[in-house]
Amino acid sequence: MTTALPRRLSILGSTGSIGGNTLDVVRQMGGRDAFEIVALTGNGNVEKLAEQAKAAGARMAVTASENRYHDLKDALAGSGITVAAGPSGLIEAASAESDMVMAAIIGTAGLAPTLAAARRGADIALANKECLVTAGSLFVDAVKAGGGKLLPVDSEHNAIFQVLEENQRHALERIILTASGGPFRTWSREDMANVTAETAAKHPNWSMGLKISVGSATMFNKALEMIEAKHLFGVAPDQIEVVVHPQSIIHSMVGYADGSVLAQLGCPDMRTAIGYALSYPARPVLDVERLDFTKLSRLDFEAPDENRFPAIRLARLALKRGGLQSAVMNAAEETAFDAFVEGRIGFLAMADVAEAVMEDMADAGNATDMDHVFAIDEEARSRAAAVIARLAR
Ligand code: NAD
Ligand code: MG
Repeated sequence: MTTALPRRLSILGSTGSIGGNTLDVVRQMGGRDAFEIVALTGNGNVEKLAEQAKAAGARMAVTASENRYHDLKDALAGSGITVAAGPSGLIEAASAESDMVMAAIIGTAGLAPTLAAARRGADIALANKECLVTAGSLFVDAVKAGGGKLLPVDSEHNAIFQVLEENQRHALERIILTASGGPFRTWSREDMANVTAETAAKHPNWSMGLKISVGSATMFNKALEMIEAKHLFGVAPDQIEVVVHPQSIIHSMVGYADGSVLAQLGCPDMRTAIGYALSYPARPVLDVERLDFTKLSRLDFEAPDENRFPAIRLARLALKRGGLQSAVMNAAEETAFDAFVEGRIGFLAMADVAEAVMEDMADAGNATDMDHVFAIDEEARSRAAAVIARLAR
């Protein structure tokens, strides 16, 4: 896509944590001189969405929530900004001509609009994990067929993207994903059994949305990232390592056949990764905290404990089985997460639900097309709901 300024950018999920950080990076990179905002999307928070759309001079604002359509329309009355709602509105936002789309909708809801953007050839700055975890190679193929670039935003994959030397692929031995270990890194299973969503969401280093914060506490977030890494970097399951690094200073690493390991470091701030994706291959000037090595007392590393954090074991199983197993794992985990947040099941039960559904659907096979992916996703959700109902009794 064209690199002429201003670049046309749409942000799917602008009202969230990544979306807000993206708007800040846009501002820091020169605002309307650097980017023309085509579409912004949100969900229930239409007041915030309307405010963002007006401030950024967006052409279109879309709420995923159909029953908030009139509120958004009222909030933007007289602004000249086009308003739409619901799943078809999200597709409209993604399909509107732009050079780049930031995919920052949380969960499987992000898949259809991101695919629409990929198919029309937009560069995709990918924060949403579920596109790769559920649709895997179908998603990668859609980006390739569209002709756009796939730019990872998740800090780990962005780090690897920064240090992976494409002309040295033959010498690539392993990629090493770092994990903070979350707020319960040193807790026993007994202690984790009774935690609430509020405690689980208190991430020690990163400020993020609720789902991903709880995902850091269970390490399901890392499980999703292991699957993403396979598709983004075309590595085999045994080339993907995870190391717990509580300070979150090294964002991930690449190991080569000569024994060298290249790492990307920085203060934990998503804006660095977002900025790299937005201005790739150039680096933007960003006002983020600089790493002061004289103030870093130490960097620690430890192996993840797969007994206390079964998500890592389940990701290995999904990688080994391949195909739709990661879609099954993700759908079951999303369903279990909702039940946990609503207080229907305990913290540890989230992994139990995912494992039970993965065993039920161990022979899910490979995806033939997107309808197949959506059908498996739905089946895994309904099976997860049944497991949850049994557990909650
Ligand atoms: P968030 O919950 O803060 O924001 C999510 C966005 O999606 C919001 O704009 C919300 O309105 C929208 N949304 C929610 N439900 C929706 C639905 N059903 N349909 C359409 N839109 C909906 O989430 P976040 O932390 O910004 O994360 C966004 C994505 O980026 C996730 O996939 C997450 O895993 C990934 N990610 C986030 C971070 C981070 O630092 N926050 C880091 C790496 C990856
Ligand atoms: Mg991450």
